[in-house]
Amino acid sequence: VKERGRSGYALFDADMEEKSLERILLEVELRKAVEREQFYLDYQPKIDFSKGTLVGMEALVRWNHPDLGRVPPNKFIPIAEETGLIIPIGEWVLREACKQNKKWQDMGYSPITASVNVSVRQLEQSGILNKVIEVLNETGLDPKWLELEVTESVFADLENAAAILEEIRGFGVKISVDDFGTGYNSFTYIKHLPVDTVKIDSSFIRDIHQNVESKAIVNAILTLADTLNISVIAEGVESKEQLEHLNKGGCIQGQGYLFSKPVSNELFEKYFRDSNLL
Ligand code: C2E
Ligand code: CA
Ligand code: CA
Ligand code: CA
Repeated sequence: VKERGRSGYALFDADMEEKSLERILLEVELRKAVEREQFYLDYQPKIDFSKGTLVGMEALVRWNHPDLGRVPPNKFIPIAEETGLIIPIGEWVLREACKQNKKWQDMGYSPITASVNVSVRQLEQSGILNKVIEVLNETGLDPKWLELEVTESVFADLENAAAILEEIRGFGVKISVDDFGTGYNSFTYIKHLPVDTVKIDSSFIRDIHQNVESKAIVNAILTLADTLNISVIAEGVESKEQLEHLNKGGCIQGQGYLFSKPVSNELFEKYFRDSNLL
């Protein structure tokens, strides 16, 4: 029994060690990735499904490592956040998304909003407002075509976050609360944070057509947002059935595989040319 116990521990240790090695490796590689231009963006369309029109895009970072291949964001973003590497990565994403959006406007496509995910580490970084202004000046994008997606669950200091967001919003940039409804204090957040849009988390959309609770939560969010004059978008819309439920509840904007997965800038351009995306 002892023998087994010991080998059990040994196995456990080896496993732990392997994990931390992978983690160290990713951290080392992540440090080099910005300079070596291993990141690129995919863009997912946001649709007004009352009209079938394109209203915006969400820029999603991708990491293509020469040996490791594609490392998913859920794997490297948390490491980037812990190490502070999210600051240079996030800045790169912001600049690239603004640059691309301006380029599309210059090509003559009707303007859409570029949504960029911003982690709390970035927001709390001193000088974030100046960084945003600098990127907008550099790229020539009008602030009204930029939206920052912030996740509600991560603000340690709500007052501070509200002050920063208020400044950014004062400059004309839109603020969206991502993964809305998943935090413990969702309603407190929209009371205190300056917000233009809430993005209903995909977990509520996933079973909206078969779960009364999810449906009730979505409808409550829609009613609340309507009263507060906040826009709503649904994320993770995958089926016609889900879309119908959203439509019935009065939600008219969405994003998800039903319309398109995130795609390259070249592929995205066809969505500008399609008059009906439904
Ligand atoms: P998120 O902001 O909630 O982004 C939505 C995620 O859901 C994306 O995964 C997207 O590809 C995926 N998705 C879109 N439509 C559907 C659908 O219909 N069904 C399903 N099952 N999934 C869908 P992705 O690109 O792997 O990103 C994962 C997370 O990584 C993002 O979640 C976001 O939190 C983070 N992330 C991605 N890019 C950035 C970035 O540039 N900066 C920061 N700070 N975080 C980022
Ligand atoms: Ca997002
Ligand atoms: Ca989500
Ligand atoms: Ca989300």
